[in-house]
Amino acid sequence: MTESESPESQLLAEARARYQQEREKRLRRDGLDQFQELKGDFEEYDKDPFSPVEPRDAVTKDVEVLLVGAGFAGMLVAKHLLDEGISDFLMLDKAGDFGGTWYWNRYPGCMCDVESYTYLPLLEETGYMPKMRYAGAPEIFEHCQRIGRTFGLYERALFHTVVDSAEWDDAAGRWVVTTDRGDRVTARFVVAAGGILAKAKLPGIPGIETFGGKAFHTSRWDYGYTGGGPDEVMANLADKRVGIIGTGATAVQVVPRLAASAKEVFVFQRTPSAVGERNNGPTDEAWFQSLEPGWQAERIRNFTQAVTGKKPEVDQVHDGWTHVMWDDTQSRAATPEEQTAVDLSDFETMQELRDRVAKIVTDRETAEKLQPWYGKHCKRVCFHDEYLPAFNEPHVHLVDTDGQGVDSVNERGVVVDGTEYPLDLLIFASGFEVTTDLDRRLGFDPVGRDGVRMSERWHDGAHTLHGVLSAEFPNMMFISIVQAGFGTNFLHFLSESANHVAWLIGQCEAQGIRTIEATPEAEEEWHMVLMKEAGKIAGYSMSCTPGYYNSEQGNNPKARRNLTYTGSLLDYVGYLERWRDEGGFPGARVTPA
Ligand code: NDP
Repeated sequence: MTESESPESQLLAEARARYQQEREKRLRRDGLDQFQELKGDFEEYDKDPFSPVEPRDAVTKDVEVLLVGAGFAGMLVAKHLLDEGISDFLMLDKAGDFGGTWYWNRYPGCMCDVESYTYLPLLEETGYMPKMRYAGAPEIFEHCQRIGRTFGLYERALFHTVVDSAEWDDAAGRWVVTTDRGDRVTARFVVAAGGILAKAKLPGIPGIETFGGKAFHTSRWDYGYTGGGPDEVMANLADKRVGIIGTGATAVQVVPRLAASAKEVFVFQRTPSAVGERNNGPTDEAWFQSLEPGWQAERIRNFTQAVTGKKPEVDQVHDGWTHVMWDDTQSRAATPEEQTAVDLSDFETMQELRDRVAKIVTDRETAEKLQPWYGKHCKRVCFHDEYLPAFNEPHVHLVDTDGQGVDSVNERGVVVDGTEYPLDLLIFASGFEVTTDLDRRLGFDPVGRDGVRMSERWHDGAHTLHGVLSAEFPNMMFISIVQAGFGTNFLHFLSESANHVAWLIGQCEAQGIRTIEATPEAEEEWHMVLMKEAGKIAGYSMSCTPGYYNSEQGNNPKARRNLTYTGSLLDYVGYLERWRDEGGFPGARVTPA
């Protein structure tokens, strides 16, 4: 028997053919353009349903640092600035409180899929013990408020405030920032920490604006309509037919809660998620109290090692994530034999997840439709113990669109393959913009040196050093995944970036530096690093079904530059550490005071 006739090779050939077939079904010409913003007809969808916008006087103020964004990233920069001895800062956020993602996402069942001990920031510093191994959204939001109180951030924050413009005044050496509340803030430094999953998107389904029932996006859940709360039954849905479009990480958490509350539930699926076992449970208090100082940073690092193929000696977290992601199967292997072994490992992991569907979902046809046919790095793997069983309930209906998506929406409901599904409530679990242009996601277009706009200088995509500094935008620092790190545990990335940015500002203050920005040459060198890393996973990535990880496999001319660092987050962190250790800000243009 030759190698190509071995059972493993045949299995792989079949799997590759099936993956390819499923991918091709889903490829679309419009790529990222298939989605639309919460604007125009959908402006109402973007309103804050959680806290009223209180009137206040406009603020005119000069500060050392302005932080745009008061989610994890903004809060962590603030904490590190205080550590650097810098307390003259102001934080702005569109939301009505701290928390970012965890302010907006209050949908029923919302929780973090990464272990709370590695995901909740500053546990040692705040002395907080999470209640559960995987924390629910209300607990995470409360923790954000705790951080705000512990570090005195509330008195330095303006909420329900959106930046309208930010312009560099070279003579004054300051950014001039205006807001939708009439504020005018001048600042030496601006940190754009506007969030990674902050801009909700809607599918551009024909007729979507004509729906006559109630509709909202999951990040603006209307409990006034549904009744109940994040952890309660939604009594008002008892006589309602509810539809949900999308079956990603959000929908996986929402669907079981809808199943427990609504009369009928219709789940409109384009691509099934891979859903592993969760096994949540209360924190073991004795274990938690026994942890030695410094445990959290160590555990965070250990988890990232385990999910980026760096295989730590001890798998401290040892959960579904570390099990599924233990082997890095997306980087190109050195030899064809090694490549076969790697592909087989990926296939087996996904087959385990497909078999799990077949074990749990009793109706065979439904089970088949819920099975994910793509590689494990193509979409974020989900972990949940109630999602798949929900499809065994007689009032929960999977409406699979065979990769095509919903055909249309009309006044009464949703149409798929000629069948109309009348609905009272339509929920969009359609996700967020992740890889679109940063100025679009920031919500303002910074105007840098000599009046150059970010949208002009970045007309072909992002230009940065480490995703943090950019030429012509002095003293502006970005915390976003564009040209920066990315990882399963967003907190790890945000903590490292926040630490880096605060250190940078601290050094500028200590060394009497007036301005700092990247040089165009250093931006190009960094771009080469990003391209080289991307090259290592290009083959895998190209074989994936579309999704936000790969900009919907669209033909976006800016995608070449709007990359993330696709290697291990630990390697990205290594670049930042070496750069700081080297001293002298290599690749940055610095002007003295
Ligand atoms: P996703 O982008 O992951 O999912 C959007 C869903 O909408 C997909 O299932 C997509 O299908 C579907 N969709 C889009 N257009 C159509 C259409 N026209 N017809 C039918 N279906 C359509 O968004 P989520 O909000 O689920 O998750 C986004 C990210 O947020 C996650 O990946 C994760 O990083 C984060 N998150 C994290 C959580 C956590 O626990 N930490 C919990 C929830 C979210 P298709 O796959 O075919 O594109």
